[in-house]
Amino acid sequence: MERCRQFAWDWVAEIFVRNLVLMFIVAGGLHLYLYTFNKQANERQYDARPLGKNKRVFTFNNQVFDNMFWTCVSGVTIWSGYEALMMWSMANGYVPALPEANHFGWVALLIFLIPIWETFYFYLVHRLLHWPPLYKLVHSLHHRNTNIGPWSGLSMHPVEHLLYLGSVMIHFIIPANPLIIIYHLQYFTLSAATTHTGYEGLVFSKRNYLPLGTFHHQMHHRYFECNYGGLEIPWDHWFGSFHDGTEASHKDFLNRRMQQQAKNQKRN
Ligand SMILES: [Zn+2]
Ligand SMILES: [Zn+2]
Repeated sequence: MERCRQFAWDWVAEIFVRNLVLMFIVAGGLHLYLYTFNKQANERQYDARPLGKNKRVFTFNNQVFDNMFWTCVSGVTIWSGYEALMMWSMANGYVPALPEANHFGWVALLIFLIPIWETFYFYLVHRLLHWPPLYKLVHSLHHRNTNIGPWSGLSMHPVEHLLYLGSVMIHFIIPANPLIIIYHLQYFTLSAATTHTGYEGLVFSKRNYLPLGTFHHQMHHRYFECNYGGLEIPWDHWFGSFHDGTEASHKDFLNRRMQQQAKNQKRN
């Protein structure tokens, strides 16, 4: 915190390098295991289509290179930028400190509450990003990926990184300590890699596996106008945008889409 009182290249660069290494360990590790070495073949994979190669829609015509580029160059930079901003703000007293009394209890409470806040925030921003002008300009970059891999999670337009990771600025109001800030940002960024693996989980034996991506978000990449949120809180149920992959739910989805298209045509 002493060092963070003034912006300086050395500590900001340390944050950037640490975040880049973390992203390579999580997204890179999962990609090597599941795709490069194909350790699990198609077991618990949602979509057996290979990741895109020689496709002009992707930067460098290659899905993995495209995803790595946007994740590292824009994603990790903006993530580290927010982290540096919050550390500097905390060191200078602009972020309210956690109460000294029952400090550990407050940390535990925030670790529990931050994911709830994030899924709510994510749902709102995600719906906003599907507003046609913003979708075209910004969010379509993430949706190049109709089939997804670990590097797709944080592969977004810089404006989308700025919006999503801006959720950490809630700590200009809600008290925090450095650990909470780091956790808040890592929760968002690293879990983007684990929820976009394209696999339901890592298989260890016939019965045991570590859950990873959700079918819920895989469906969002397949059909776009459904499943905007996560599963932690059923926002999609409440706002009528839920799709669970069953035939009945797909019919509902097609009806909703037809109604929306009719509305748009009327407007035009
Ligand atoms: Zn996604
Ligand atoms: Zn989307």
